[in-house]
Amino acid sequence: DTLDKAQSFLSSRADKRFSLQNFVAGQFLTSSSPPAQHIKSFEPKTGRLICTLPCTPPDEVEQAIQHAKAAFPSWSKTSRAERSALLRRVSDLLQEHRELLAVWESIDQGKTLERARIEVDRAISNFSYFSTFIMHEQTAARMVDGVALTYEHRSPAGVFALISPWNMPLYLLTWKIAPCIAFGCTAVAKPSEVTSMSAFLLSAILQKAGLPAGVVNIIFGDGATTGAALVSSPLINGVSFTGGTQTGIAIRRATAHQIGKHLSLELGGKNPTLVFADSMSPSARERTIRLAAMAAFENQGEICLCGSRIYVERSVYDEFVADYKRYVAEKYIVGKTVGAVASLQHYSKIRSYLEIAESEKAVFHIGGVPPALDGEKADQGYWISPTVLTDVPATSAVQIDEIFGPVVTITPFDDEDEAVRLANASEYGLAAVLLTTDGARMRRVGEQLEAGLVWVNCWLVRELGTPFGGMKNSGTGREGGEHSRDVFTVVRTLHLPS
Ligand code: NAD
Repeated sequence: DTLDKAQSFLSSRADKRFSLQNFVAGQFLTSSSPPAQHIKSFEPKTGRLICTLPCTPPDEVEQAIQHAKAAFPSWSKTSRAERSALLRRVSDLLQEHRELLAVWESIDQGKTLERARIEVDRAISNFSYFSTFIMHEQTAARMVDGVALTYEHRSPAGVFALISPWNMPLYLLTWKIAPCIAFGCTAVAKPSEVTSMSAFLLSAILQKAGLPAGVVNIIFGDGATTGAALVSSPLINGVSFTGGTQTGIAIRRATAHQIGKHLSLELGGKNPTLVFADSMSPSARERTIRLAAMAAFENQGEICLCGSRIYVERSVYDEFVADYKRYVAEKYIVGKTVGAVASLQHYSKIRSYLEIAESEKAVFHIGGVPPALDGEKADQGYWISPTVLTDVPATSAVQIDEIFGPVVTITPFDDEDEAVRLANASEYGLAAVLLTTDGARMRRVGEQLEAGLVWVNCWLVRELGTPFGGMKNSGTGREGGEHSRDVFTVVRTLHLPS
């Protein structure tokens, strides 16, 4: 089967390519999309072609949606115990194939194997978490003025389009699929065309778990053809999307006339890390440097929650920069703890920002402008050294735009008000890291930051029940626990007179 093929491919993959098929109505189908239009996907670490995938045309997208719609009446009526058991089976199968999935995720995305394992574990938790969450839901009834008993009745919202980006492919796709089916909805999911492999393996796992045909359909393709057809179909009742802000805006536009369509948009970020002088005391310094580095460079900076703008209190600015660059140079080694960036296109984008920094005379403490790579001949892979920049003006595109790579800027501030102002001076509002040992400041500053997630003296701590999502141009809606229930269910309030 697909999983065996994926396994044996690993031992003899020289010159071979994997050819992905859509998973529709419980079957792997060959798309009618002409092979000439198939999308090529390359291994970031070597620049080698590893798989091709169909660019599913709109009529086939519609067929997949029809299958999801046909599966909805029966799936939405299955008992929560049955749905819970199914999610548990998926989680167990992911666990069984953990290493295969991690190895493929690392090949396909460019991330280190260690990082890929963490993300597969999180994908496993996504299913196990929602499998238990639905078993503990309760509805409270209220008596209103003694004249009416009211209660909220929730039902599955219908058929969903689930669309994910390339940075944490399996983790982010399962963060959508697990709650979607747990709450009784059905789906057509489309992973990023840059990293589709783990979604293909997940299809085989869903099939093996015995998920009824049509409950989850996974189709491949780009955004302009496949993604656009998927989100705008009138048969789609909701969209859970994670990706860039411009795409989020396009999806909102394309669906603006479909008022009742649920939209959960998890978009880009340009997140600040605030370093106060107290956090550079001898006892806190190691943690401060470690967290500011981890937040910037984990997964090559390709996590929407990465802190790519560091602001440091002026009295400790010089010592912070000195310690920070030494630490990053020691710990973040390309090819060991730092993977390759996801695609040639993304490599070129990051490179173009480093060229801007160079032309604006920024100081490169470590890193530099990587060489231009030549088309598909980029066979040395897409490697970018962690880059630490200072003296970058606030008006520079390097400080304003989401670069989404291993690039960080460090800028001094004079007082708390300025720190908050600089942190909030962005169109984005996804996450922020606050490094301080002053308990009152943790709340005072933390509560002023325009960010959906604020981490104080920590980073990337996630509890799956807490609301996840951004402010401003970083998105709308929240996911996680009961917030995911709001995305995937509709609510009616019943009033029963006494
Ligand atoms: P992207 O927006 O280019 O693509 C994301 C997905 O949307 C892909 O599957 C793509 O094919 C699809 N798509 C593109 N155009 C579409 C359209 N018109 N209609 C429907 N679907 C379309 O983003 P990307 O480059 O793959 O990912 C990087 C971005 O994702 C960054 O901005 C990053 O911050 C963001 N991100 C956000 C979060 C979060 O939770 N907020 C998490 C991870 C990544």
